[in-house]
Amino acid sequence: MTIVNHLIHGELTAGTGRSADVFNPSTGEATKKVALADRATMQLAIDSAKSAFPAWRNTPPAKRAQVMFRFKQLLEQHEATISKLISEEHGKTLEDAAGELKRGIENVEFACAAPEILKGEYSRNVGPNIDAWSDMQPIGVVAGITPFNFPAMVPLWMYPLAIVCGNCFILKPSERDPSSTLYIAQLLIEAGLPKGVLNVVHGDKEAVDALIEAPEVKALSFVGSTPIAEYIYSEGTKRGKRVQALGGAKNHAVLMPDADLDNAVSALMGAAYGSCGERCMAISVAVCVGDQIADALVEKIVPQIKALKIGAGTSCGLDMGPLVTGAARDKVKGYIDAGVAQGASLVVDGRDLVVAGHENGYFVGGTLFDRVTPEMTIYTDEIFGPVLCIVRVGSLEAAMQLINDHEYGNGTCIFTRDGEAARLFCDEIEVGMVGVNVPLPVPVSYHSFGGWKRSLFGDLHAYGPDGVRFYTRKKAITQRWPQRASHEAAQFAFPSNG
Ligand code: NAD
Repeated sequence: MTIVNHLIHGELTAGTGRSADVFNPSTGEATKKVALADRATMQLAIDSAKSAFPAWRNTPPAKRAQVMFRFKQLLEQHEATISKLISEEHGKTLEDAAGELKRGIENVEFACAAPEILKGEYSRNVGPNIDAWSDMQPIGVVAGITPFNFPAMVPLWMYPLAIVCGNCFILKPSERDPSSTLYIAQLLIEAGLPKGVLNVVHGDKEAVDALIEAPEVKALSFVGSTPIAEYIYSEGTKRGKRVQALGGAKNHAVLMPDADLDNAVSALMGAAYGSCGERCMAISVAVCVGDQIADALVEKIVPQIKALKIGAGTSCGLDMGPLVTGAARDKVKGYIDAGVAQGASLVVDGRDLVVAGHENGYFVGGTLFDRVTPEMTIYTDEIFGPVLCIVRVGSLEAAMQLINDHEYGNGTCIFTRDGEAARLFCDEIEVGMVGVNVPLPVPVSYHSFGGWKRSLFGDLHAYGPDGVRFYTRKKAITQRWPQRASHEAAQFAFPSNG
C-alpha cells in the first residue's frame, strides 16, 4: 500500500513514528497509509528549518519571490493531478477541488509581491542628521497546522507568505487527506526552494504537541475546530509563541422580505450543500424575516435539494460528494436524529441516501429543517454536513440578535434590496466576514480572513496584510551620522524636536 511520507530537508522519509489509514470516502476503502510523526521525527524537521533560516532570511526578497512565480506556474500546470488527489481523499467534486486550488494560487500571487510588501517605512531627518526606518524582519522557524476540508487552499494561506517574509516553515497537514498537500509542497521544492525552508510533517496530537513545546518554533498558525484552536492558542501563548488559531463556525444567511428570492435560493444551494457542507464558511442557517419569505423559500428550495447530483467526487458534473469519513457521516446523521427528536420539522431527509455502485461510501443527502429554534443542537452546534436549518423571526433586529448571541462569528450574509438594512447589518453584526447578497464572503488574498468570537483566537487574521504582520516582527532603527566637524555636548533632557 502506498505510504504518504514526510518531506524533511527536501527528502521524503517515513520517519520513526506510527502510521494511519487514508480512506477514499466515495468507496469506504483504505487506499493509502500516512506516516504519523513521533517527537524525534518532528525534531528532524525543526532542526532542518533552523539550519536553513540564516541563509534564507538573507536571501533578497526578490529572489524569494522568483521561487513563488515558478511555484504558481507549476501549480497551474498540475491542476488536474492536484484536484484528483484532493477529490480521492476528501470526497469533494473535481470542480470544487479545482476551485479551492485556484483560491490557494491567489495567495501565492500575493506572496509574489514580497519586495513591495517588505519595503518598510523610512523617514529622513527625524532630528538633526538623524534618519529613521522600520524594518519587517522574519521571526525564524514558524509552523502551520491545517484541517482536512481544504487540503490545498488552507496550507497555501500560510506558507507562501511566511516563506517570502524570510521564515522557514513546518507544515502539519490533516492526516485524513494528506496527499495533495504533500504533492503541492514537492512542487515548491521543484520551483527552487532551498532544502529545509519548507518541511511537511504528517501526524496527529503527538506531532502537534511537539511543535507547541519546541522552543525553536516561534509562531503557530492553526486552522481547524474550535476546541483544538483554543488548546493550541492557550498552550502556544503560554510558551511565549505568537499564535493565530482559526476555529469552527455556524454561518447564518438572513433573508429579508424584499430579497431577490431566485438568486438567494441559488446562492443558498451552493453555500449550504457545496463540498457537502464541509466548509467553515458554509451557510448552515437561513434566518427568514417573516413567514411569507420562509414559506416561499421552502417552496423553491425543496425541489432543488431533491435534485442535487450526488456521487463519487471524482466523477464529473456532480454537485456534491460524500463526507470525509465514516465518523463524520455518523455524526451528521446523529444531528439529524437529534433535530427530529427536539421537534424541528424535517422537510428533506438525506439520511437514507445510497449511491448506486458506491454503497459503502460516506454519503448523506441534502437535508432541510424548518422551524428550528435556538436551543436545538442542530442550531447551536457546527454540524459540518449538508444540513440547512431555517429559523423564522419577526424582524431584522431579531435576526441580528440571534446571530450576535451565537458563540461563533465566522461568516454571515444578508439577502436584500434595501441599502439601509444592509448598512445596519454590516455595521452592527458581530461576525468577522460579512456578505451583502454574497453567500460565501471569503476575502480575496489581498484582504485578510478571520472570524470573531470563538471562531478565532488571536489578534491577527490569516493571509493578506494581517498575514504579513503575523509572519514578521518590526524593528525601528534610528541612525545618526554627525557632520565631521560637529561635536554635540551631552544632553540630559529627553531628546525631542521641541
Ligand atoms: P480538527 O480540529 O479536527 O483538525 C485540525 C488539525 O488539528 C489537524 O491537522 C489535526 O491533525 C489536528 N488535531 C486534531 N486533534 C488534535 C489534538 N487533540 N491535538 C492537537 N492537534 C489536533 O479539524 P478538522 O476536522 O480537520 O477540520 C474541520 C474544522 O475546521 C471545522 O470545525 C471547520 O469549521 C474548521 N475550519 C475553520 C476554518 C476557518 O478559517 N475558521 C477553515 C477551515 C476549517
